[in-house]
Amino acid sequence: MRGLLAFAALLVAVLSKKTFEGDQVLRIIPKDGVQVSLVKELEDMIELKLDFWRGVTNVSVPVDVRVPFRNLRSVKMYLEAQNIEYFIMIKHLQLMLDKEQEEMESAAQVTQARNTDNYDYGNYHNLSEIYSFQDMLVAENPNLVSKIVIGQSFERRPLNVLKFSTGGSNRPAIWIDTGIHSREWVTQASGTWFAKKIVTDYGRDPFLTAILNNMDIYLEIVTNPDGFYYTHTSDRFWRKTRRMSANSPCIGVDPNRNWDADFGGPGASRDPCSDIYCGPSAHSESEVRSIVNFVNSQGNIKAFISIHSYSQLLMYPYGYTRTPAKDQAELNCLARRAVTNLASLFGTKYRFGSIIQTIYRASGGSIDWAYNQGIKYSYTFELRDTGGFGFILPANQIIPTARETWLALMTIMDHTLRNLY
Ligand SMILES: [Zn+2]
Repeated sequence: MRGLLAFAALLVAVLSKKTFEGDQVLRIIPKDGVQVSLVKELEDMIELKLDFWRGVTNVSVPVDVRVPFRNLRSVKMYLEAQNIEYFIMIKHLQLMLDKEQEEMESAAQVTQARNTDNYDYGNYHNLSEIYSFQDMLVAENPNLVSKIVIGQSFERRPLNVLKFSTGGSNRPAIWIDTGIHSREWVTQASGTWFAKKIVTDYGRDPFLTAILNNMDIYLEIVTNPDGFYYTHTSDRFWRKTRRMSANSPCIGVDPNRNWDADFGGPGASRDPCSDIYCGPSAHSESEVRSIVNFVNSQGNIKAFISIHSYSQLLMYPYGYTRTPAKDQAELNCLARRAVTNLASLFGTKYRFGSIIQTIYRASGGSIDWAYNQGIKYSYTFELRDTGGFGFILPANQIIPTARETWLALMTIMDHTLRNLY
């Protein structure tokens, strides 16, 4: 009977999971302003069901787009007719997903982690595995780590934040979140690695020890748990939350367009079917509102770091305006140091700058909100790679990605400590 039930559950999971047979990811390179607008027009053709992995920005900046098999021919014809350069970035998408899934399953069979020492940091994990990782870490390090539930997701999952603290009350603190966009799997995986790194290095690494002797660190690893669950069970490329709208069949809000920073302005959409739908109102999403309430109630957050993938970028405010942030000189200088340190490990190259200058105009983003709350060291990362794998970064790159990113995080946290008062 149990076997039968397990089989039935497996069958349901297999049947309900979206496949991407025949889909390809194209990289398009518009060479002038006219071509940029022509590619933008593609973006607006909702009926093509294109999934932009990297949106349209500027002349010569690549645009990565997943094209469903049934529209592949017409999209390619459109590009060729306009003489727009493109190449196939991922030819057999489903094969890559199958491989990713196989690796996850075989790893899960080998190691059922009973403690955080034998947790498999070099593989992707599902939501329940990450939740139990968090509980194990807290149980193993009760004097350093605690778990705070800052709210519930739309589907009522807990929004867990790990607090790393050596004592004191209301110490200045650093906020780090990963996985606000659920399909960016290397970010949640890196967040898990960071959590273990903090408990391992405290008392050993003098810089981290100094940071934790004066500040607390808050880390939200699965910032969009409903979306993350959905990427494992139904659609690997789900980005948004899983909110249902009253007046649309489309589901989900882009949780990085939902913040009260030029909410609903250019670079976000009012259409619930869009992947950059800003939601009905600022902070309408529980996943966002819970962070807003938490940060405001702490009142002592000095750095706010939000981690995405992919593109290899380190950015600071603003995304919604070209007006430079008043601390731009310092933020830029610190970003340069952070990416230099990041590159020192494996030579991974990052670009850096304000969001609007580095990628595109975007409204309602978290770090613009944080900066406007007076949190000076507000940064956002886009981790590996620059295309090639995109969101399906092979698991063997998780640990190298986390390790190099940690050097940049330490640079920012150390600078924050030195500039507390
Ligand atoms: Zn993202």
